[in-house]
Amino acid sequence: MRPLVLDPLFRSIRALSGVGPKNLKLFEKLTGGERMLDLLWHAPIDIIDRRHSPLLKDAKPGQVVTTTITVLQHQLPKRRGLPARIVASDDTATLDLVFFNAHRDWLEKTYPIGAQVVISGRVEPYNNRLQMVHPDYAAKPEDIASIAKIEPIYPMTAGLGPRHITKAMGEALTLIPTLPEWLDGPLVRQRGWPTWADAMRALHNPQSGPEFEPTALPRQRLAYDEILARALAMQMVRSRQKKLKGRSFTHDSALRTRFLKSLPFQLTGAQIFAIAEIDADMQKPERMLRLLQGDVGSGKTVVALAAMLNAVATGAQAAIMAPTEILARQHAETLAPLCGALGVSMAVLTGRDKGKTRDTLMEKIKSGDAQIIIGTHALFQEDVTFKDLGLAIIDEQHRFGVHQRLLLSDKGIAPDMLVMTATPIPRTLTLTMYGDMDVSRLNEKPPGRKPIDTRLLSIDRIGEVVDGLKRKIATGARAYWVCPLVEESEKLDLAAATERHADLQQYFGARVGLLHGQMKPTEKDKVMAAFAGGELDVLVATTVIEVGVNVPEATVMVIEHAERFGLAQLHQLRGRVGRGQDASACLLLYTAPLSELGKQRLMVMRDTEDGFLIAERDLELRGAGELLGTRQSGLPAFRIANIEAHGDLMDMAHTEAKLIASKDPMLTSTRGEALKVLLYLFSQDQAIQTLRSG
Ligand code: ADP
Ligand code: MG
Repeated sequence: MRPLVLDPLFRSIRALSGVGPKNLKLFEKLTGGERMLDLLWHAPIDIIDRRHSPLLKDAKPGQVVTTTITVLQHQLPKRRGLPARIVASDDTATLDLVFFNAHRDWLEKTYPIGAQVVISGRVEPYNNRLQMVHPDYAAKPEDIASIAKIEPIYPMTAGLGPRHITKAMGEALTLIPTLPEWLDGPLVRQRGWPTWADAMRALHNPQSGPEFEPTALPRQRLAYDEILARALAMQMVRSRQKKLKGRSFTHDSALRTRFLKSLPFQLTGAQIFAIAEIDADMQKPERMLRLLQGDVGSGKTVVALAAMLNAVATGAQAAIMAPTEILARQHAETLAPLCGALGVSMAVLTGRDKGKTRDTLMEKIKSGDAQIIIGTHALFQEDVTFKDLGLAIIDEQHRFGVHQRLLLSDKGIAPDMLVMTATPIPRTLTLTMYGDMDVSRLNEKPPGRKPIDTRLLSIDRIGEVVDGLKRKIATGARAYWVCPLVEESEKLDLAAATERHADLQQYFGARVGLLHGQMKPTEKDKVMAAFAGGELDVLVATTVIEVGVNVPEATVMVIEHAERFGLAQLHQLRGRVGRGQDASACLLLYTAPLSELGKQRLMVMRDTEDGFLIAERDLELRGAGELLGTRQSGLPAFRIANIEAHGDLMDMAHTEAKLIASKDPMLTSTRGEALKVLLYLFSQDQAIQTLRSG
């Protein structure tokens, strides 16, 4: 049961005077919910300082000015679409107030000629005059004191003005209850942290720039609360998952020996070690929750197969879930001959399988005829039933949400879980992203890989690049050509790629293919197959080739607008070459001028191929925000906490969460009860359900 003390925070914001049925939807959209709590977690991102009232002649362009003006003249537009202008002055200079689509009546009522009006807004120069577009305030002169202060700025959504949000927030703040303290007393005192309620009030009443610093005490306190809540929830879920009786899969040495013999290569030391760790986990009666981190090309698939064979040998099924159709098919291609040789049956299920094919596949999965199942997210559709799923493997995990991860694991009775990721996540972030999973790392590449010659070139030199490519292709090389990433717009991505494709066809004729995200899966496969089979020399692509695709003959990677990609992404892309016997090259084309940061980032790519090093440097250069963007992490972003700035708090919170979980696993002490309140505040209360059902 939710602690009663939280009731005021869980009430609907409909209770606030400024919130009606109409804008409730907008508030919900903005803050993610309709509770007071959702509103309160909507933190300001900046402030507007309205305390400056310079004489207009001294006002600086861009400055927010709050001052009293006299209205001189109305210049109403002659045509629709033109702005209305109101000329005003403060005796030292004139100021044009500019309005788009304003009603004439309103203008005349708000700014009568000759009247004195207090206005506040940003001033800017325009045609040698000073102007203010849509003043934020227009009030009577006696009201200047109520305007001239610091105002928080909130992220907004269309239809909900800043005034609406500030007003609702002001009211909500008065309803904050006094909550029991869940933090350790000595810690709070030593850090000088305010209570949660005071921290919340301070969050919404920032007084100056420094308070936006993550190191400001109220922010620190709330960040610690947030990290602790998540760490504690993870800790509780984990203890339950560990307690849930898993099963013991002993690896069958005869099968293992045959498997190793069937491989055309020797395992690397890192692979042997990872397999041993997995064997040990799977043998234990508890569930395995392991993360397998390994750079592109480090050989994760073989390790995954070894794990799957453990389950199969014991009579259970194993499933591997990939984020894309292409990847699922590719896994299937790699695994099919190996499974064939070992007499293990395999099925592939993706979103493309429909009707009868799908029914047949589902039947095979249900009956246990399929021992190893490979698929996309189609695997966790509700109607897919496994006979006995013993091991669930998730490849390229950052593409999936935690939710999906749980869905797949619900398909079996507490199946062992192995999550594989090629994103080299720095050590400091593993904890945040994956919680307390056990980690195996493949930090050694299979032998014989040649270094990739990486160069940075300005796009101006594209002529040379094409000439060079011609020479390479004449000697039998194949090349990827990745086109600019245009933010947020697949359509634009596509336009750029289509154009480049047409362009390169002039040089290379029909032996240039095009691959993009909006093609039908069958079309994609056809193009990929043509490239893999050598019918195409150049494959122009948007970032759909990012993960996993394996064409050992491809030895040239050209990336246009490399400066727009994340380093992790560049690293993934570059990993598509250097997979075969021949020396490979990667050309990073940038558009000048590059920022200093942009240059440094590309230089990191040029100077190293070590994915972990690249990730660390990327983190230093750009901060964790990007790495932890929801797209990559699959974890909901923090509301207040900031990975870089609160790194020390992370470690502390995880240590403390462990301690709490061991000393008071049911959260029954006084402090435990308070911690339950904390879990509710950060929507981590599913963890409390775990307590009950565990
Ligand atoms: P990842 O999934 O980690 O990017 P893969 O498992 O696809 O890497 O392996 C990449 C390539 O390396 C595959 O062609 C695979 O057969 C090969 N490979 C894997 N392990 C070894 C090894 N120990 N020695 C040589 N080649 C290997
Ligand atoms: Mg892979």
